[in-house]
Amino acid sequence: MTHQHRPWGYSNSSDGNLPDWQLHEETLAVRAGLARSGFGETGEAMYLTSGYTYDSAEQAVHSFTDEVDHFVYSRFANPTVSMFEQRLAAIEGAEYCVATGSGMSAMFSSIACMVEAGDRIVAAASMFSSCYVVLSEILPKWGIKVEFVKGNDKKDWEKALSEKTKVVFIETPSNPMLEIVDLKMVSDLAHNAGATVIVDNVMASPILQKPLQHGADVVMYSATKHIDGQGRVLGGAILGGFDYIQNYLNPFIRHTGPTLSAFNAWVLVKSLETLSMRVNRMNESAQAVAEFLSQIPKVKSVNYPGLKTHNGFEVAQKQMSGGGTTLSFEIAGGPTELFKVMDALKVIDISNNLGDSKSLITHPASTTHRRLDLATRESMGITDSLARLSVGLEHSSDLIKDLQQALR
Ligand SMILES: *Cc1c(COP(=O)(O)O)cnc(C)c1O
Repeated sequence: MTHQHRPWGYSNSSDGNLPDWQLHEETLAVRAGLARSGFGETGEAMYLTSGYTYDSAEQAVHSFTDEVDHFVYSRFANPTVSMFEQRLAAIEGAEYCVATGSGMSAMFSSIACMVEAGDRIVAAASMFSSCYVVLSEILPKWGIKVEFVKGNDKKDWEKALSEKTKVVFIETPSNPMLEIVDLKMVSDLAHNAGATVIVDNVMASPILQKPLQHGADVVMYSATKHIDGQGRVLGGAILGGFDYIQNYLNPFIRHTGPTLSAFNAWVLVKSLETLSMRVNRMNESAQAVAEFLSQIPKVKSVNYPGLKTHNGFEVAQKQMSGGGTTLSFEIAGGPTELFKVMDALKVIDISNNLGDSKSLITHPASTTHRRLDLATRESMGITDSLARLSVGLEHSSDLIKDLQQALR
């Protein structure tokens, strides 16, 4: 191998293969992290191995004390997983990346590694329901205080962050309401309160939003969504700087083991090569679909950060390079009418995933967000008449035609 191995997690500055000028995102997506074996293969190799051997007993000792560059066990690091980590770190512009087996293990580990009983977390209330369960049920059981604020209300943030806080957790845009949180505004307040800002950047993907550039400290992904984006594997990732990764995250991950498999990493490292092309195309189509839906009388409301009517439009313009690939909308006539429309679709599939090459529609109230009690769901705006549509890679005019015929 011609590049430096980092025992846990990769630094994007350690790749000796790349030229020294600032490469574009598209180039990094194909080239960064590439670690060829002695065979000179063009495709990234899949190292399906749990362990590694040593030339001598002494080399094993030194490998465990990290004095030599040597993989020791795939719960800690694996060459294929490391290629994925290094490539994603390069695209994100993060110092380090640690991959995990799912988005939820990334979300949980990113917070759990930092907090202890008595600590306080402040979070934007509008979020993916499993993240809400972690914050409202699991962590409080262990003596951690969690306070939820309205993500787009500056006064609410100011009040919550006037007290010492350990972690601020933000999902922007949020799933499924596409609410926008001002990353710079909240990060400034959070840092004054002594908090580490962790952003769930799943809905935007690293192509449309780079939270570290707007003041956040840590970014997490479900790689299951846009990063795979082809409905095949689960995965997750956490990105941040040296202090967070080395002093908090790695000791936690190393011993609790939410490891990404080498097979899934191999699928994901290849997916990164086409991520920007896929996300940019899906983003353009989502904008067209959102504009179409907002002209239909039967559609009561459309939530899409790329529409001027969206209350987060200006903040989205500032921190995102597009409105995203996902939108949600409410149908006049309630859930019965909405189910009829969903059932009449001929191209768009009914499915609860998102960020996929196939356009997928779901009814959050009865599926992805059913775990929330009614009051919480309603406070997030997730009504029975709301559908979430993840726009895929089909031609946008076919998607619009499909919606048109189903709405008739
Ligand atoms: C899907 C999702 C997750 C969880 O990811 P998994 O890979 O399903 O574990 C977390 N946050 C958001 C915003 C998501 O959409």
